[in-house]
Amino acid sequence: MTKKVVTDLDVSGKKVLLRADFNVPMKDGAITNDNRIVQALPTIEYLIENNAKVILFSHLGKVKTEADKASLSLRPVATRLGELLNKEVKFVAETRGEELESAIDSMEKGDVLVFENTRFEDIDGKKESKNDPELGKYWASLGDLFVNDAFGTAHREHASNVGISSNLETAAGFLMDKEIKFIGGAVDEPARPFVAILGGAKVSDKIGVIENLLEKADKIIIGGGMAYTFLKAQGKEIGHSLLEEDKIDLAKDLMARAGDKLILPVDATIASSFSNEGLEGVVSIDDIPADMEALDIGPKTVELFAKELEGAKTVVWNGPMGVFELENFAKGTIGVCEAIAKLDDAITVIGGGDSAAAAMQLGYADDFTHISTGGGASLEYLEGKTLPGVASISDK
Ligand code: ADP
Ligand code: MG
Repeated sequence: MTKKVVTDLDVSGKKVLLRADFNVPMKDGAITNDNRIVQALPTIEYLIENNAKVILFSHLGKVKTEADKASLSLRPVATRLGELLNKEVKFVAETRGEELESAIDSMEKGDVLVFENTRFEDIDGKKESKNDPELGKYWASLGDLFVNDAFGTAHREHASNVGISSNLETAAGFLMDKEIKFIGGAVDEPARPFVAILGGAKVSDKIGVIENLLEKADKIIIGGGMAYTFLKAQGKEIGHSLLEEDKIDLAKDLMARAGDKLILPVDATIASSFSNEGLEGVVSIDDIPADMEALDIGPKTVELFAKELEGAKTVVWNGPMGVFELENFAKGTIGVCEAIAKLDDAITVIGGGDSAAAAMQLGYADDFTHISTGGGASLEYLEGKTLPGVASISDK
């Protein structure tokens, strides 16, 4: 089903409620990384240019007690947004009531207002996080139209996304639209061949993703810590490498179902301890010593994976190939980034928090078609689940 996008709405002169993902990292009342605010700018700027009255809101952190409120106010976000837009941004330190309503009533076309952390409503009965119908209806009553640009919370059914949408015409913001197009599109209607690359720490975190992509992808490449449970299931010695004993049977079953669709590492970079200095070198996958652990795929595996990627038209990647946080064990992840960067006219998508961080930190952010902004939400999307925050957007 095609979803409405903000450009499908007639926003001029309208009070437009805009749910953004302003859940930024904070330390001592200061924002430590404003990337999420920057990512929200295209939709905000579009609405300003098109003469809407822009009413912004978001959750920030988890609000459990009155005391949490002091450190989790959206005020610093409103201030930073004002700097980025080079424009006055009014902040209302309330989530409902007369002050908020009259501030909205006095807005002019092109004005921007931010109201307080939606999770301030959680103190009294989790109204936001449990999608209290009265709260969604109330927030909806504050505007004429709703734009949902918070993909990061799309896997949650909250009052500030689903609750408002059940009362008001809703469109996706530009960020949300990109996620639907690239993550949703890659999984639902991939250009083929479609190659999935899975890695990261644990099989157990990714069972849903593996199961879904096994059906949809033409090839599944497995690296990272999770590969060793598969290799163990093949009867190999894996030393102290990551192992989930209780997932060995599942791994066997997945390998049997996947047949030659599934590609595993052929060599590994091993270590005597889980540290950068622990590096011991590269061994064939059949020769991992019993007292060592594999912290990265080896160069032959990078070569193999690069060959398997050749000609791919869709690539979905979740999970680093090794412990990329340690320089000596980042080569596998770098190698796969390089191989993906070389692909011609392929749609290449990264989902997952650490995978996105790896690509950015290693300097390959520009080599991908899309890097998802939503960790948990992108994983559930890759699992083939319906995300309530996406489903609740009005159909075109
Ligand atoms: P994502 O957040 O993208 O879904 P995960 O959280 O599943 O990814 O996995 C990321 C983590 O996996 C990283 O911190 C990385 O260090 C770890 N990892 C990757 N390969 C290995 C390995 N061979 N041994 C131990 N940990 C690994
Ligand atoms: Mg992670």
